[in-house]
Formats: sequence, C-alpha cells, structure tokens
Amino acid sequence: MNDGENKYLEVLIPRGLIGSGNAVFGTPITVEGLCSLRIGWREGLITSLETIPKESASSLKLLLPRLVEPHAHLDKAFTWREVPNLKGRYQEAFEANLQEHKNRTPHLVYERAQRALKLALKNGIRAVRSHVDSFGTSSELTWEALLTLQDEWHSLIELQLVALVPLEFWTSKQGHSLATRLAKSGGLMGGVLNPPMDREGSRSSLMHMLKLANELGCGIDLHIDESETQPAEGLNLLIEVLDQSETNIPITCSHASSMGLLPLNKIRRLADRLAQHSVNVIALPLTNFWLLGREARRTPVQRPLAPIFHLQRAGVTVAVGGDNVQDPWFPAGGFDPISLMALSMPLAQLAPWDRLGLAPFTTSASALMDLEWDGTIQIGSPVDFVLLEASSWSEALSTPPLRTIIANGEWIDEK
Ligand SMILES: [Zn+2]
Repeated sequence: MNDGENKYLEVLIPRGLIGSGNAVFGTPITVEGLCSLRIGWREGLITSLETIPKESASSLKLLLPRLVEPHAHLDKAFTWREVPNLKGRYQEAFEANLQEHKNRTPHLVYERAQRALKLALKNGIRAVRSHVDSFGTSSELTWEALLTLQDEWHSLIELQLVALVPLEFWTSKQGHSLATRLAKSGGLMGGVLNPPMDREGSRSSLMHMLKLANELGCGIDLHIDESETQPAEGLNLLIEVLDQSETNIPITCSHASSMGLLPLNKIRRLADRLAQHSVNVIALPLTNFWLLGREARRTPVQRPLAPIFHLQRAGVTVAVGGDNVQDPWFPAGGFDPISLMALSMPLAQLAPWDRLGLAPFTTSASALMDLEWDGTIQIGSPVDFVLLEASSWSEALSTPPLRTIIANGEWIDEK
C-alpha cells in the first residue's frame, strides 16, 4: 500500500525477528508466535512498526526478512543430468564431479550459477555462500564466471565465494597466490577434512592454512567430518591446532556431521571447545541424510548430522544450508529456503516458532556470513522481505508457498 512517499504493509512477523528496541506491547500474537504488525517504510528503510487489531490477524500474510543460503555449490548445480549418481554414495559423487570437470567451460558455469541465482532471488534469498571447486585445470575459468556473476548480482544477492581445494594445496606456491587474491576480493579459504586422514599431514596443512589465513585476514570455511566413521576426527584435530595458534579470523565448519554420533558427554565437551574458539557450524541435513550411512544401512537414529541443539546451547553460531542442488551429490533441491526449513523440521527437529529453530535460517546465518544486516525487523532496518502466501507457519511449510519479494524497498519482478 502506498500513502504518498510512505509505503506500508499489514503482516505477520515472527516474534523472534522483531528487534529488541521496538516496543510492540499489546500486539496480537498467534499460537505460533506471529505478531500482527503494520510496517511502514520510506526510501528503503523501515520507519514505523505499529500494532494492529486482533480481528485482522487471520487474513494477514507471513513476512520474513529475505533469507540466507550459507552453503551452496553454484559451480556444479544442475549437473545431475550430465553426471548422475544413482547409487547416491559419496565416493561415486566425487568421481562424477571429477568427470564433470572435464567438460567445464566458463559459459556452462556461468549459465548454471545464473540459473541458481535467479531461483534464489525468486525464492527469497538475499545472500549465498558458495564453495567453488578450485583444483584442476578448470579452476581459473570457474572463478572467472563466478566473479562476473558476483559483480552483476551484487545489488540483489550478495555472493560469497570459498575456494574448495585439498588442504595441502594451501602449503603450495599456487595456494599462497590464490589466498592472496581471495583476501583482496573478500573470498574465503576452504578445504576438506574428512576421515580417513593422514593425521600428521593434515595437522601440518591445517596449521599452515590457519597461519596464512590469519596473516591475510581471510576467513575459513571447511568441509569437515562429512562422514559416518571416526566421529569428530576432523573437529578434534582442528581444536588441537587452534589450541596452538593465535587466530582472529572467522572460522566455519560445514557439515560437522559425525560429531552427532559421539556420546552426549563428548558432544557437550566438544561443543564447549568450539564455542571457546568462536568456531561457527553449518549443518547440512539434506546431503548428510542422502549420502552418509549407506554402507552400514544405518537406522535414522544413527545418521550423522551436526548436533545443532547442543552446539547452540554451548554458544556456537549454527546455520543450516541446502548444500548441493541437482548434482551428483544430491539429486533434488532448488535454492528454496522455505522448502529447506520444511525438510529440516523433521530431520533436525527445528521448529521455526522457537527462536533457536528459526535462527539457523535467519539471524545466525547472517551473523555467520558477516552480513551487514542480521535480518531483524526494526525501525531503520532495510526493507528486504519475502512475503509468503500463508498465514501460519504450518501453512507455509506444508507446500512451498507462492511469495513476493521486496528488496531495497521495491517489489521485485523476476529477473
Ligand atoms: Zn558442500
């Protein structure tokens, strides 16, 4: 609605996303913690939040800040048809991934990442962190395509890029030069630390990587313990190395899946150690439940997944990501944060009406990606919303709802 220069909407907003400085006393709240509010803005910034009468609540729609995808692989999205992995196992996924590298061109990478970003925009995402395969001969051209897109999309979607390489790569001369380039462009250093691992070799590579990242002020995001064996082997090694290092860079552990297989007392101890070192965690339930635990045909209670609740309770910032989309690692997905929330609800028992159930998709994901705005709605915050055709969480999560995107204070038509 438009009132001269001021625009406003009457909507439902999750209580946990309303900034603490805003007095909305007396606001009607649904059983799912949704507050009925009239939100006003001008020139892209929120100027007012007012309570509205209870009678209108049932006809209002659910409004969220545009959401965040903290862990994706845009360079290989939509390659399932070219290199399918019908067995759904990790090793075959990796082999298919290498096969796909042989046919990579800058045009192909550009096309699929562009398709991914269009979907992300349409579905209500404002920032994406993508790991980028940065080994082999196709690395340069992959980066070229993604850096072009990062520039082209910056007003609508912030694209963060992480160089995904074997850990020892960072000890090489090329590794040093890539890290220097990343630090200049706001990129991050990545790597894989999964068992079976040569513990001493991995320790030395990790030590080197942390030192280099710290010197350059470059953040780190590792694929770690994406495995059903040797629970938390990678995380424990990382903690040992951090105990001996002086670092002040942001460190994120993606997956941390096998930590969930440890006994509870060990989970708690390790969660405390991660919190002490300010290590963030990104849980990736879809790919973990699809790829891991196949050999032993594990029952659901033995499936590896980061212990989100215990990590949060220890003070670790935890986000949830979608990971692979329609590639050999995962045949489904579509850069839809609402579908991801719906699927995470049974897999990880995350309920969006609980503050800690919603944070991994909103405020914690924003903090982990060090975004300018944490996603809370208050006077002065950006008008950057996804408005769902749903008037309750249950409705929103039952079937992926239609939605309208508002960015920079304007309604966005599909790009
Ligand atoms: Zn990944």
